[in-house]
Amino acid sequence: MNTCMQCQYTFEGNYCPICGTQNNVPKITFRYLITEVLKVFMLEKGIFLTIRDFLMAPGKSAHIYLYRNRKKYVSPIIFLLVTSLIYSIVNKYFHVEESIMVDVQIDGFDDRAIKFTNQSMKWIQDNYGYANLIMSFFVAFFTWIIFRKGNLNYFEILSVLCYF
Ligand SMILES: [Zn+2]
Repeated sequence: MNTCMQCQYTFEGNYCPICGTQNNVPKITFRYLITEVLKVFMLEKGIFLTIRDFLMAPGKSAHIYLYRNRKKYVSPIIFLLVTSLIYSIVNKYFHVEESIMVDVQIDGFDDRAIKFTNQSMKWIQDNYGYANLIMSFFVAFFTWIIFRKGNLNYFEILSVLCYF
């Protein structure tokens, strides 16, 4: 029998049935810390492997991920989030990209429409990493329409596109 550390209820098993507190939360030992660090390291290793393979042989890697071995690469959504995040951070602090867009000025167009377009352009430019993220959903959608006869569904296409 265990006594709940939270509500002092006595119970058997791993979780207190009254408040859900876990029995025997692992002590933070040196070994525990090392395991935690290794977990992050594994993720990083996975990311490097994913980048390397997708640069060397994108088609082959996509095929492996879709049909053979899903454990080998970092999950596409995680991959996209991490790389976008890194990209956005790098871009923010080092200003890799120069301002390339000019203000749109078209005669006969509604002022508000022009203002909206310019603001959207500015947002895309300032948040290129995130804009890319949103774009990939659209790209996946059009790819899916074009290759509808293939046997990949929308989410499979989206997953593979996340690596590029
Ligand atoms: Zn309890």
